[in-house]
Amino acid sequence: MTTKQDIIQKAKSERRTVLTEIESKELIKKAGISVSDTRLATSREEAISLGRQLGFPAVLKVISPDIVHKSDAGGVKLDIKTSKQVGKAYDDILEAIHQKHPQAAIQGVSVQKMARPGVEVIIGMSKDAQFGPVIMFGLGGILVEILKDVSFRIVPLEKRDAREMIREIKGYPVLEGYRGQEPVDVANLEELILKVSSFVEQHPEIEELDLNPIFAYSDGAVAVDARVILGEG
Ligand code: ADP
Ligand code: MG
Repeated sequence: MTTKQDIIQKAKSERRTVLTEIESKELIKKAGISVSDTRLATSREEAISLGRQLGFPAVLKVISPDIVHKSDAGGVKLDIKTSKQVGKAYDDILEAIHQKHPQAAIQGVSVQKMARPGVEVIIGMSKDAQFGPVIMFGLGGILVEILKDVSFRIVPLEKRDAREMIREIKGYPVLEGYRGQEPVDVANLEELILKVSSFVEQHPEIEELDLNPIFAYSDGAVAVDARVILGEG
């Protein structure tokens, strides 16, 4: 069985600091965090067969250690409903990447199920020169990017930190449910934050972690994108 250390060592032995979405998800799944089941296809046929296997609607994404922002590069196709659409998405992704990033090493294309809509939240970890690893929490999308509506706590976090950091963002009412939308399972998000905290504490070689986005539901949450970056050396 592959361990978390195996996944980290593999990247290190290839002198890579950026783990792909597939590696990052494998790693955080082993830390007990729920992720969308994501498989690597190295051919068009394989992508189609994985699409059938995992079920529609599906999502296809480029897998390359050289491409950090997949959608900006034309490397994400959502809501794919048929095998035929899988084939087209596969071709379109490769073409877009060849055009925009001709130098990028492409490992393949990932196939995963399209997650049902939920409230998008993000959990991140970065290292502060003074404080060391710091966990960030915020709502996904525009709220985080433009309004910087996020909260921070220094690792290791305690239960109370996780509780507070969720409640102190301005967008907290969104998690409590609005306009008839169901409230999000906040207790589950607290646990998720604590799992990320102990995971990064156990793996000091991790320099940066980004679960962006996590889809939060009234019954749990699932990370649909993950990025882990290792420190140099
Ligand atoms: P990027 O590298 O650009 O951050 P993501 O993997 O986050 O790429 O995909 C871009 C967006 O597509 C996400 O923010 C999310 O809204 C949507 N998305 C990605 N994966 C899924 C999925 N499995 N189910 C539903 N939506 C998804
Ligand atoms: Mg993302």
